Amino acid sequence: MAELDEFKQEVSTWLDSNCPQSMRRPIVTEEMVWGSSRLQFLNEDQQVWFERMRERGWFAPSWPKEYGGGGLNPKQARVLETEMSRLGCRQPQYNLGVWMLGPVLLEAGTHEQKLEHLVPMMKGQQRWCQGFSEPNAGSDLASLKTSARRVSDEQGEAYIVNGGKIWTSDGDKADWMYALVRTDNSSKKQEGISFLLIDMKAPGVTVKPIELISGKSSFCQVFFDDVRVPVRQLVGKEGEGWALGKKLLQHERAAMSKFTEGGAPSADALAVTLEYLERGDDGKLEDAALRQKLAEVLMNAQSFTLTHRRVTEMALARKDVSAPGSIMKLVQTEQEVAKYELLEQVMGLRGLGWEGEDFSAEEIDLCRTWLRSKTYTIAGGSSEVQLNIIAKRVLDLPA
Ligand SMILES: Cc1cc2nc3c(=O)[nH]c(=O)nc-3n(C[C@H](O)[C@H](O)[C@H](O)COP(=O)(O)OP(=O)(O)OC[C@H]3O[C@@H](n4cnc5c(N)ncnc54)[C@H](O)[C@@H]3O)c2cc1C
Repeated sequence: MAELDEFKQEVSTWLDSNCPQSMRRPIVTEEMVWGSSRLQFLNEDQQVWFERMRERGWFAPSWPKEYGGGGLNPKQARVLETEMSRLGCRQPQYNLGVWMLGPVLLEAGTHEQKLEHLVPMMKGQQRWCQGFSEPNAGSDLASLKTSARRVSDEQGEAYIVNGGKIWTSDGDKADWMYALVRTDNSSKKQEGISFLLIDMKAPGVTVKPIELISGKSSFCQVFFDDVRVPVRQLVGKEGEGWALGKKLLQHERAAMSKFTEGGAPSADALAVTLEYLERGDDGKLEDAALRQKLAEVLMNAQSFTLTHRRVTEMALARKDVSAPGSIMKLVQTEQEVAKYELLEQVMGLRGLGWEGEDFSAEEIDLCRTWLRSKTYTIAGGSSEVQLNIIAKRVLDLPA
């Protein structure tokens, strides 16, 4: 315990002297630093914070040092997370590879795959996208049809991939895609799926951005036309991709349920409410109904934080948290929607700025985050699908 206290002191001092003040403000979407072969910084502070954290291996504090991680034990990693959160430090790097693929590769990847992919992720040099959904395979993911046929020829052993993926977030910016593909049509649909790592620069990969009603969007559709993927980019065994995909989704849901802990932008409801509403002489918000709604949002957020801590402790004790993971994803994303609905009500017309000089940068960001919050209840498996999982796996209800 004394050792952990000492570590906490050391971490706190280090963060305090190494995290620039401007990196301690809540993150806004435009200021996220995405690890990528085309890595870019908006300012010097971003770069300083990124490089200092990279040197310590703290992009992934608990990963082995051999693969560029911090080599911390789970308790130390938790201390670092808590101290970063206490000081309001931003995540220095955003990367789907680190959050979702990395833990799967650590468990099921070969040593060569770990060296080829984990190390560049830890240097902030690789951007990943997720190739799971297809036009007729979203919630019913096992219906996916993108095919991967194994060949052995003068160029070596490879899979030839044909088909396509949809709703691929930032597919146009990614260096690599982790994808679920069909290697066998003859067996039960879950059994014929394999997990491949696809180089987005490979010949035959075409990425088309999808336009939405808002004009801008990070969604892409990705087409594969005889794309050659070397067999060394198969993770795990052929035909066992479904289990890996499910594991990856657990990491995605866990990352999504950490939204208020610096994983993604999330407004401070109390601060926004106090900024936009006048208070009476007694210092209270005058509208009693609104006061009650705000109290509800704040209490829910606090309960969630405590429950999240409990689930993290369970994970540290190596208990199975796959079921709580679905509950956390469901509750967190639904709570975010409720919070932003309230903030929009509080801000009135000021909350409806999409762009332009009439609105402050914070107002525009809040409006965009409000709209985006609705998508969190779909991405990573919709709320209805999480309810199905909870009904089956947690409550053991009949199908
Ligand atoms: C912001 C965002 C980012 C995304 N990024 C990616 C990405 O990077 N890569 C990727 O592969 N995918 C991505 N997706 C896709 C996402 O995983 C799918 O949209 C999601 O799984 C739902 O699938 P669908 O859109 O095909 O809807 P459908 O499966 O057609 O569902 C439509 C509706 O029916 C409901 N429904 C479906 N089946 C059931 C059922 N059995 N019981 C009850 N209700 C049901 C759903 O909950 C939903 O409300 C992203 C989605 C969003 C919103």
